[in-house]
Amino acid sequence: MRTAILILAVLIPLRGAFSQSAGSGTVVQWPEGKLAAISLSFDDARLSQVDAGIPLLDRYGVKATFFVVPGAVEERLEGWRNAQRAGHEIGNHSFVHPCTGNFAWARDKALEDYSLERMLEELLAANRRLEELLGVTPDVFAYPCGQKFVGRGVETKSYVPLVAETFMAARGWLDETPNDPEFVDPAQVLGIEMDGVSFSELLPVIEQAKENGLWVVLAGHEMGESGYQTTRLEMLEELIRYAEDPSNQIWLAPFGTVASYVLEQRK
Ligand SMILES: [Zn+2]
Repeated sequence: MRTAILILAVLIPLRGAFSQSAGSGTVVQWPEGKLAAISLSFDDARLSQVDAGIPLLDRYGVKATFFVVPGAVEERLEGWRNAQRAGHEIGNHSFVHPCTGNFAWARDKALEDYSLERMLEELLAANRRLEELLGVTPDVFAYPCGQKFVGRGVETKSYVPLVAETFMAARGWLDETPNDPEFVDPAQVLGIEMDGVSFSELLPVIEQAKENGLWVVLAGHEMGESGYQTTRLEMLEELIRYAEDPSNQIWLAPFGTVASYVLEQRK
């Protein structure tokens, strides 16, 4: 009898561990039996987001995440206040948008010349400024240019640990795959580009996510009809109609909403 109980006690956790590693969706179940989650996110507080994109999202009642830089928010302050009040999520996208100095525009704020101390100071300064401007303190972050380092050569350091300590979750950029909710590191959630992409180009990624219970995080910049780094409004409308068709079983929710759900489910 004692042996039988011991064997059971060993077997049950093993079975649990096996099904988790098989990624069969046994631990994290999406709400209401949905098959996949999609988050829409947009960076830099570009003017076209307030002028064209948010009105479209609001017509459909869809909430997105906007990773903003405080200086850019000030250019459309009333618009951003309205967006926040309407239920869109405001995320931190740093104070001055530092990136590799190989971008000429970033040479005077090059990550190669940053220290971890300066990075942390500026992340916190951005949160304080957004609190002053919009009355919210972001708990989500998007890495400017998707780059996660400071320094160069043997002095290079990752600033992911700082982000992990400061925010609930953070998004990358130009990543290649959806996120497995049972495995994803909340400080390094993968973000797939949706600028310049048609709905039919995006559909295979969504179908893959539905088959495997994954979380697709889409990232864009300008919101309009055409142009560089522009998420097409036509694509967005098709995507929203697809996601809102109950037969497609998609959970369309802001980045932080899905991240906090995933973390809660994994407890
Ligand atoms: Zn950016």
